[in-house]
Amino acid sequence: MGILERITKNVDNKYWYPENDTFPVKNRYTAGVAGQKFFQELKDNGKIYGTTCAACKLTFVPAKLFCEQCFAELDDWVDVGTTGILWSWTIAYKNKDDSKKETPTLLAAIRLADGLLVHWLGECSPEDVEIGMPVTAVFKDPGEREGSLLDIGHFKPVIS
Ligand SMILES: [Zn+2]
Repeated sequence: MGILERITKNVDNKYWYPENDTFPVKNRYTAGVAGQKFFQELKDNGKIYGTTCAACKLTFVPAKLFCEQCFAELDDWVDVGTTGILWSWTIAYKNKDDSKKETPTLLAAIRLADGLLVHWLGECSPEDVEIGMPVTAVFKDPGEREGSLLDIGHFKPVIS
């Protein structure tokens, strides 16, 4: 489900159909102005953008159109890079349908500038994970991207 798809049935906005294992939100406009640019940059250029409020000295990721602190309109777009800091993480042992996962998956909150992205953590085991370690985005191939946060396949630890 990318930003360029459009919903055709209104009920699809309200219900999750577990048999499809997808959440069918396909509205072209739900991402908003800032969200649309944020997702377009992920898709087209493999870049993560935020917006900066000079007065509050904050860079919001994902990009926002207005500052959460002072409500100023934001139009200072910043490429924040693809490497952030592991802020928090957990292990998921079950699927959405409550069945046991064959392989537990790692979920992480990744600090990029002054924002957080929640995403998969891959290419590491739980024993390797440390709060505060640098992690970098692993993007899908350009032809597979569709304008969603899942254009990033996962984040992985930065090997130094
Ligand atoms: Zn501000």
